[in-house]
Amino acid sequence: MQAKPSKDTNKQTKKKFFFSNASASARGSPGRCWGVCAARAGLAPCPLPPARLPPRPLPGDAAGGAGPARRRSSLAAQVAAAGCARRDNAGAPCLALGHLQVPLKPGRSLMDWIRLTKSGKDLTGLKGRLIEVTEDELAKHNKKEDCWICIRGFVYNVTPYMEYHPGGEDELMKAAGTDGTDLFDQVHRWVNYESMLKECLVGRMAVKSVAAPKEFSSTLSEEKKQLNGMLPERKVLGASAKDLTPSYDWFQTDSLITIVIYTKQKNMNAELVIVDCQEKRLRGEIIVDEHSYLVEVDLDHAVQEDMAVNISEKVGKVEITLKKKDKINWKTLGRPLESHNTFVKHSDRGLFYRKCKLVSKVEVTHDTKLFCLMLPKSTRLHVPTGQHVYLKQIIAGTEVVKPYTPVLPFLPLDFKEPSHRDGEHIYLMIKIYSCGLFTQALDHLQIGDYISVSSPEGNFKKSQVQTSEDLFLLAAGTGFTPMVKLMNFALTEVSCVRTVKLIFFNKTEDDILWRNQLEQLALKDERFEVQFILSQPTKDWMGKQGKISPSLLSEFVKRNRKDSKVLICICGPTPFTEQGVEYLKDLGYSQEEIHAFTA
Ligand code: FAD
Ligand code: NAP
Repeated sequence: MQAKPSKDTNKQTKKKFFFSNASASARGSPGRCWGVCAARAGLAPCPLPPARLPPRPLPGDAAGGAGPARRRSSLAAQVAAAGCARRDNAGAPCLALGHLQVPLKPGRSLMDWIRLTKSGKDLTGLKGRLIEVTEDELAKHNKKEDCWICIRGFVYNVTPYMEYHPGGEDELMKAAGTDGTDLFDQVHRWVNYESMLKECLVGRMAVKSVAAPKEFSSTLSEEKKQLNGMLPERKVLGASAKDLTPSYDWFQTDSLITIVIYTKQKNMNAELVIVDCQEKRLRGEIIVDEHSYLVEVDLDHAVQEDMAVNISEKVGKVEITLKKKDKINWKTLGRPLESHNTFVKHSDRGLFYRKCKLVSKVEVTHDTKLFCLMLPKSTRLHVPTGQHVYLKQIIAGTEVVKPYTPVLPFLPLDFKEPSHRDGEHIYLMIKIYSCGLFTQALDHLQIGDYISVSSPEGNFKKSQVQTSEDLFLLAAGTGFTPMVKLMNFALTEVSCVRTVKLIFFNKTEDDILWRNQLEQLALKDERFEVQFILSQPTKDWMGKQGKISPSLLSEFVKRNRKDSKVLICICGPTPFTEQGVEYLKDLGYSQEEIHAFTA
């Protein structure tokens, strides 16, 4: 560890299937990039071509803008993905990718794609007509020069997109002429392909495809029902899951409405309950292992912004108490919305966004800032350790979504008690790339501006840490972000933890995030150690130098005892993470002992 004073400042300042998140493996310095950033501005949205199909809903048409639509969430990750074309060493421009780095031709960045989609050019070859596509017809369009793909029952002609796809043409071709929904979901469910490929929409599948859109699959008749205290029939996962399916009820007094959700789970806690009340729309989501239960109602009458959520942890009861605006008797709770009273796999639930206010922006290093976002008063949401959220912005008329991992406002130095979680703010430590599409827009937000923030996602389980004696955290650059809560959790709440060791890879000293705080923590808590490793140090650097390698890992990742229970978490640019995992396996660590943070 280097003992030099840190540069932390507290100055207030201003998978690779088709739609890869280019940023996930962003590598190299912003200084190395060049490209099309200047062209970002001034794109006028182009109206949709006239639809000649019966007026069935198109993807992304559902009301609300934040509803059950991961599909609506944002194609724009690609926008961000391809935000900045740059030249690799060979001089060919390429983009950051999910797992791959595929050189794209000049003029094929995400911004170029957006520009093309707004140009009014007929990208489907159907002159704006929307058609019904049979499976046979779909199968015919399976070549690079004529490629149709079905996603959630909607067929897109992706031929013009081929050269713009950050994951490369071959990845896109894996779904040519077929239903690519599952492949798409495996990699980037959150990417808003509807927005991205809007101008490529050919029409709907004539027959219901296997992976038909969830919106159309179930509850239409129920939508008409009014909630009168009787529970409508629940949609469950299957007969075997029925007993575990939560249920709800509601009651009222003169001034209050209380909705009670019986989760049928022990150990319910605030991280498993997400409640939003926007205007008259109430949405209460309960996370039960891999599943999600939802109460979603257009309330009968208006309520006040204030609400209370009480969780009886042991009996698994969640009570949401709303204050009536007017003291009148409600005949019903309200109109059930489409996903109301459903219990589905969490991954099948659409991402839900709420608008959060930017309340502060503080410099952490020369290029990284700590953003503090305030949740709406009528939202209850706690982001679990190891999980991320998605931020959504409209950039050049297109929705862009990027994942970010909430951190704490600072590193607590005293781990005697669980740190105070206010539940009102989300802190994000974000590196601003000089050519970054999303981060540039983010950096231009003013204090008081709003940005959409999704509910949490991620596959890290706290139970992975709960039995660890030695915890190793390998972080590169902003790959440090998931480690913040993880360190805090391990040092505070895991009694068997003996050592927590952070091995932090950065280019230069100036890039080290929260160096001072980390050094303080290492001094204060003997269980915690930090090792900084620089890949591009100045000659004054007395510490460790290099990149992730088997020799560095064997030097720093060592079991305390032969049979120590070890967990190694790794996060950074995708190639860093992938290489790290391989080296660790070669060093004899098992799959269960390694957790890689990815999108
Ligand atoms: P882009 O427009 O995608 O480009 C990024 C910049 O990186 C470009 O300007 C360029 O200079 C550079 N770049 C891109 N590709 C390359 C390359 N191949 N080689 C060299 N340079 C390249 N980021 C955070 O800062 N904080 C977080 O907490 C955080 N959490 C994340 C959580 C998850 C699960 C994932 C997957 C990513 C997370 N990220 C986080 C990264 C974040 O999602 C964005 O990718 C990042 O902010 C860049 O977005 P952008 O649109 O500004 O950049
Ligand atoms: P950076 O500053 O570019 O790099 C940090 C360190 O990693 C540097 O020492 C760098 O060495 C090294 N490195 C970069 N690419 C490497 C590679 N391919 N092989 C070996 N070492 C490599 O990092 P950054 O800009 O902050 O980027 C952080 C990354 O973490 C982003 O890609 C972001 O998406 C990701 N992230 C992911 C999550 C998640 O949960 N999945 C959360 C947060 C961040 P060099 O000198 O060689 O470049």
